[in-house]
Amino acid sequence: MEYQKPEELVSRQLSISELEDFPGLDWFDVASAVDPAVRSSLERILEAQNGGAISLEQAYTLAHAEGDDLLGLLAAANLLRAELSGNLVTYVVNRNINFTNICFVGCKFCAFSRGPRESDTYFLNPDGVAKKAVEARQIGATEVCIQGGLPHGLPPFYYRDILRAVKNAVPAMHIHAFSPMEIVYGVELTGMPLADYLAMLRDNGLGTLPGTAAEILDDEVREILSRNKLTTAQWIEVIRTAHRIGIRSTSTMMYGHTETPGHWVRQMRLLREIQDETGGFTEFVPLGFVHQNTLLFHQGLARSGPTLAEHLKVHALARLLLAGSINNIQVSWVKLNRHLSQLCLHAGANDYGGTLMEENISREAGATAGQYTSPADFQSLILEMGRVPAERNTTYTRIQLKLPFDDFTTEEMLEPEFA
Ligand code: SF4
Repeated sequence: MEYQKPEELVSRQLSISELEDFPGLDWFDVASAVDPAVRSSLERILEAQNGGAISLEQAYTLAHAEGDDLLGLLAAANLLRAELSGNLVTYVVNRNINFTNICFVGCKFCAFSRGPRESDTYFLNPDGVAKKAVEARQIGATEVCIQGGLPHGLPPFYYRDILRAVKNAVPAMHIHAFSPMEIVYGVELTGMPLADYLAMLRDNGLGTLPGTAAEILDDEVREILSRNKLTTAQWIEVIRTAHRIGIRSTSTMMYGHTETPGHWVRQMRLLREIQDETGGFTEFVPLGFVHQNTLLFHQGLARSGPTLAEHLKVHALARLLLAGSINNIQVSWVKLNRHLSQLCLHAGANDYGGTLMEENISREAGATAGQYTSPADFQSLILEMGRVPAERNTTYTRIQLKLPFDDFTTEEMLEPEFA
């Protein structure tokens, strides 16, 4: 398809239909319409298949791309995705378990947490968490993702006890659990050194850490979002220490609130630096801010979530700037909704995330995508996009193709690859 650059327009806002139709564009068709400086940066990344091939200034320019330059960015990211991750779209069969909604931290973007005396609080004991893990296993989950609020007075070894209960009940279950904020709280509760605390969790069954609580890794922004939360330095320390002792993690970024494109670039480059040193990140997950029920939005401190252009740009930028370092880019379907998730999977992402079974956090903030996407739903959404569905484990070391024959019952095992 030949793409013609409109003569009078250099840096214009793209219409919704132009953005929704971009998957039909091919980089080699749009390249001639892209500003020479932007084009040269994109070509450098494509040639090296590495986002480290451009300077900070060039990355800032990409992050500000609009109009035809943005279409070029999206098409280039889609091409790079095809080269680095192929035609597969992966997903993991998992269950979210948020074991309590009681929390003293008070993040202004969070509509999930409750004060201890509110009427709709809940708190699961370790056996209650294990029971949910058993149910998850019965419907084929390979992972449970366990995170919760931070209640005052939590028993010091509570996180360890959750791990023990789940492992006792379902030894084969991969436990992806405890945000860096929860790790800092566990260290505070037990008085143990960080590395020892993490090693204890690992030895009791912790598989991987969610790289959540990152939001924007800039203390000025963090002060606005949540002044009680761990600092940028603490987040980095938890992640580096975990990676060093063999606990891998995801990496995340929340966008669409008070931050600027410069923050996106600096966060992605910081994650590259950590990855160069540890190799511990399994993937990067952009998390669009869901604003509806949050104090942050209602106090006028944030915009009303990302625009369509921002959603697409952040996923494309992640593919381009993280290439050669973190090659799995995940969409958060619960925040994006299903159609927008598919668009982001055309803009550089290659992973659909997890089935979740009971998503609570985004729903409480106002997201409407639902709490569960079944494996069959994932498969048809992926096939609808002309891509190949594949179920993965948490660390992408085991991938089973879900081929569209025999009602998706044909499976082919590939391992180990795709990290
Ligand atoms: S995001 Fe987590 S730490 Fe912050 S208020 Fe919500 S539950 Fe608490």
